[in-house]
Amino acid sequence: MSAPTVTSVAEASPAARAGLAVGDELLSLNGQEPRDVIDFQQLTDADELSVMVKRAGQPLPRLVRIDKAPGEPFGVEVSSAVFDRIQTCDNHCAFCFIYQLPKGMRRSLYLKDDDYRLSFLYGNFTTLTRFTELDAERILTERLGPLFVSIHSTDPELRAHMLRNPKGATSLRWLRVLLEGGIEVHGQVVVCPGVNDGRALEDTLAGVLDQYPELSSVGVVPLGISQFSNEAEMRAHTTAEAAFVVDTVAEWQSIYTKTLGRRLVHAADEYYLLADRPFPSTRSYDDFPQHENGIGMARAFVDGFTKPEKKGPGGVRHGFFASVDAAPAEGYRAPRLARTDPSRMVPRLDDRPVTVLTGTYGARILRPLLADHPRRDVSLCEIANDYFGGNIGVAGLLTGEDMARALAARPTDRRYLLPDACLNEGRFLDGLTLADLPRSVEVVPTDGGSLRAALDGTPFRSADAA
Ligand code: SF4
Repeated sequence: MSAPTVTSVAEASPAARAGLAVGDELLSLNGQEPRDVIDFQQLTDADELSVMVKRAGQPLPRLVRIDKAPGEPFGVEVSSAVFDRIQTCDNHCAFCFIYQLPKGMRRSLYLKDDDYRLSFLYGNFTTLTRFTELDAERILTERLGPLFVSIHSTDPELRAHMLRNPKGATSLRWLRVLLEGGIEVHGQVVVCPGVNDGRALEDTLAGVLDQYPELSSVGVVPLGISQFSNEAEMRAHTTAEAAFVVDTVAEWQSIYTKTLGRRLVHAADEYYLLADRPFPSTRSYDDFPQHENGIGMARAFVDGFTKPEKKGPGGVRHGFFASVDAAPAEGYRAPRLARTDPSRMVPRLDDRPVTVLTGTYGARILRPLLADHPRRDVSLCEIANDYFGGNIGVAGLLTGEDMARALAARPTDRRYLLPDACLNEGRFLDGLTLADLPRSVEVVPTDGGSLRAALDGTPFRSADAA
């Protein structure tokens, strides 16, 4: 167990008034050692708060009384989300993207977690193979939801095969427990061609209706394959396979609508791009329950760009890459942009021509939007993901290295707009920062309304920038 360590103190906050400083270790809060930021938040919510603080260079910890008004936030950020040990994953999925990372990236990216707390805090998906009675008890008592569960298949044998873990055959029993306890749970099926697609996918969607109809949503997403995959069985979808997934999801949406009164299942945007089909209507996404997982993001982006007066879902990115470095103390689901330099969030009054930077999938969405925009001096820079290779086309997995290479060949007298999804805590996945790029770039929230505002020179209206 490691104590939470203060990484920043908000000005004029109770923590600042009590003299807490960056680097202080908070050994206990009202006599209790928090296991994670969920405990931390609950304990620091108390109106009366005493903290045992250990400061570097001081021989003994000291008890600090925090003077705070009822409901006033404590005002510190801490170094991690979990202070005991993150529950690591004991599966060995052939499609796991972590196995497909090249060597030499920052260490935190190689951590395979399967921890319900990170599911609650950041929307990471958990397979529940390491889940325990105690975990269930805490979730039900503290009402920790929504949670995000990897389903992949409702056939026990196939699920165990996909997770390469016999416990995969039985761990969905915990999903039943959570649903019976009234916890909001969203599911995901990662489809691997030749493994759980075709008939197996139909069986899974039938299994969801039969066994887990209380699920709030199920996202059907394609596996990502990088050039570093060693799994011969894993390959990208063909166009026909992607079209089959789109059709299967549409068919099951009508079955679910008839039986449950809601669509429940949604296919990832990538499938519509792969199958060359139009994105579904805004209405059919049922309030975008898995927007951050790339389901409906394209539709919401188009809506935000073409109808900037309407406020859609924001560009917050959940999941593994969002959670590895720090625990946002502003709230469990604090938007990533709260940590972005605010001066970068204000559209500039600038009449230089503009280039929008994006990945190969983003380019297919942006090209027609920019063609219809009244400005004629806006171009698109579609950046191939040479770093990961394979079928990786989303902007969120672009690295600084690829970005730098693309920018070096571009003129200097333009504005370059970069979607914030490419950055986490100011860094690209390969650890490079904006300062490492050969051109100055402006970071724009990853939603259509914000890009439109950046082009039009109007204030951002996105949920994130609000
Ligand atoms: S459960 Fe997730 S983290 Fe674990 S091996 Fe499978 S894909 Fe990787």
